[in-house]
Amino acid sequence: MKAEIIAIGSELTCGARLDTNSQWLSRELEARGWTVQRHTTVADDREAMVRIYQEAAQRSRVVLVTGGLGPTLDDITRDTLAEAFGQDLVEDEDSLRHIEALFSSRGRQMPERNRVQALRPEFASVLHNAHGTAPGILLQLSRPACTIGVMPGVPAEMRRMFHEQLVRELPVSDVFVRRSVIRTFGFGESDAERLLGDLTARGRNPEVGITASDAVISLSVTARAGSEAECELLAAAVRDQIREKLGDAVFGEGEVELHHAVADQLLHRDLKIALLEGPTTGGLIGQWLTETEEIARRLAYSRLFPTSSSMVQGRASSPDLNGAWEQALREHGEKLLTERTADFVLLSSPSTLAVDSSGVRKQHGSIVLLGTDIDQSQDVSMTGNLDVFRSRAARMALNQLRLHLLKAR
Ligand code: AMP
Ligand code: MG
Repeated sequence: MKAEIIAIGSELTCGARLDTNSQWLSRELEARGWTVQRHTTVADDREAMVRIYQEAAQRSRVVLVTGGLGPTLDDITRDTLAEAFGQDLVEDEDSLRHIEALFSSRGRQMPERNRVQALRPEFASVLHNAHGTAPGILLQLSRPACTIGVMPGVPAEMRRMFHEQLVRELPVSDVFVRRSVIRTFGFGESDAERLLGDLTARGRNPEVGITASDAVISLSVTARAGSEAECELLAAAVRDQIREKLGDAVFGEGEVELHHAVADQLLHRDLKIALLEGPTTGGLIGQWLTETEEIARRLAYSRLFPTSSSMVQGRASSPDLNGAWEQALREHGEKLLTERTADFVLLSSPSTLAVDSSGVRKQHGSIVLLGTDIDQSQDVSMTGNLDVFRSRAARMALNQLRLHLLKAR
């Protein structure tokens, strides 16, 4: 069954704030078997708001709205909702009492301005807000059949109201939807699509979606069926097929990151790693590997070299700093290995930006994996901005180690 979400607020449409409510609500709805077919973000604009409520009610069985329930003049969700469905606004006594009580519990008198927050369309009911002054609104329309739930914009208040008040008012969906995610690294989006063939065709159940973020390709598997068990059965079969087709490129499921996968492998075999990072990864691997105490226990040593000259310090200065860094860091790394400080060392180079004659900017750099039985360099140069270059280089370094550990298993 179809649902849609409307986020209201000029702070969202002008870019000052990101609409996180819609993302959160979509996940909640999908987990309950609803298919969220549309997100709309609207400025605090009367005409646009009235129109979007009416259109949404025609299209979707459930419409969730957040924002615009504050006491200020720009908060017009109450008025526009009443206007869209031809209802008068009435003052809700319980809401008014609650708002007054909230102020007096803070030792203040309710400003007259807040009185508007107790208004609701005449045939709507109120969703109690135990944590703020903005009550929500529930409107059950019969023609078209549509449940409209309106909640405050403040994310924490919205979430509690959704769970504590709104969920039980929603019609029960007749399908179950389960979404799982497989995380992969090592090829591009179009390669993934080619390798997966028919699996990614639209209209299949489960549906396989491909998204790329920071060089990680995620494959979402969305199964729809009459029961949770049936969904899981369908999804498991497709996940197996994906794993078979993509092999070692798969590093995990759900929200797992490459450094989690690597830390797991290291933990499993009681191995440790050292990092000698130059600007190509800029300390990013160190940041990730100190994310939690448990992950950090796999990190035996970490040093950041801000410049190529800092890498060769204490050595005869070389006119070719870019070549000398590798020699210097290798010696450093090999010392860490022979002293058994760590089982593996990841090195990253200085980075240089080159702009070619047509203005294309390319970041140059490389990474090296050292271990007692491995010495592998990789060029990680790419066009694009520094942030993307670094996070891709750091992931490539981790992936190099991950694949080596898999092979050595
Ligand atoms: P409002 O209910 O419109 O008065 O919104 C109160 C505050 O909640 C706003 O100032 C925003 O900071 C925040 N907010 C509103 N809508 C959203 C949204 N869709 N996602 C995240 N935050 C929001
Ligand atoms: Mg607002």
